[in-house]
Amino acid sequence: MSEAQTIAEGAAGRLAGVRERIAVAAKKAGRDPDSVRLIAVSKTFDAAAISPVIEAGQQLFGENRVQEAQGKWPALKERHAGVELHLIGPLQSNKAADAVALFDWIHSIDRDKIAKAIAAGMESQGRAPRLLVQVNTGEEPQKAGVAPGETESFVARCRDEYGLKIEGLMCLPPLDEEPALHFALLEKLAKRLGLPELSMGMSADYETAVAFGATFVRVGSAIFGARG
Ligand SMILES: *Cc1c(COP(=O)(O)O)cnc(C)c1O
Repeated sequence: MSEAQTIAEGAAGRLAGVRERIAVAAKKAGRDPDSVRLIAVSKTFDAAAISPVIEAGQQLFGENRVQEAQGKWPALKERHAGVELHLIGPLQSNKAADAVALFDWIHSIDRDKIAKAIAAGMESQGRAPRLLVQVNTGEEPQKAGVAPGETESFVARCRDEYGLKIEGLMCLPPLDEEPALHFALLEKLAKRLGLPELSMGMSADYETAVAFGATFVRVGSAIFGARG
């Protein structure tokens, strides 16, 4: 077997393992396993590494940089119908139109300038990716996201000033803190605002996120292996 084939089989096997663990965590939390959707985070991996994961049945993929995604996904999407692409990384307003053109979901709406640029892109392209607001639950100065206390007013502005329908919230907890506290906060905020989608949980903590109501988990290295 070639090295590429070995890597591909490894990813497909790990994908099955992650799916199984999500199902177990969902049942333990009294949730329908189908209410949790797995996003395979393929950032830094190329089309040769991604294709076998699509062939193993995975349809939702996440990327954190628009430019990187533009380099590999248009061709992959053409070859594989049904792939759904999620932008999970911070967005710059000069990339907003490109993001609207390529992505099916954008998880990282976090300021007025971006909301406005996304709305303009949707208007001019007649395309409507589904939208989540990123919340900086740890209030880390270097991290993207709106502060928890400003989420409600920002979601309202997205609706009233920019005509954007926000369907849920996303967070990326601080690396050195207990993620459960952040997942609980995000769940509480989403419930209060009546938003159905919760994007939270990565390779190290997706089962915890499922226990707190995640509807999307974003898992990279546990499927693709360590990033170089
Ligand atoms: C890279 C990334 C992930 C996946 O991280 P892993 O630890 O590899 O599972 C999830 N969410 C965001 C926003 C990311 O940038």
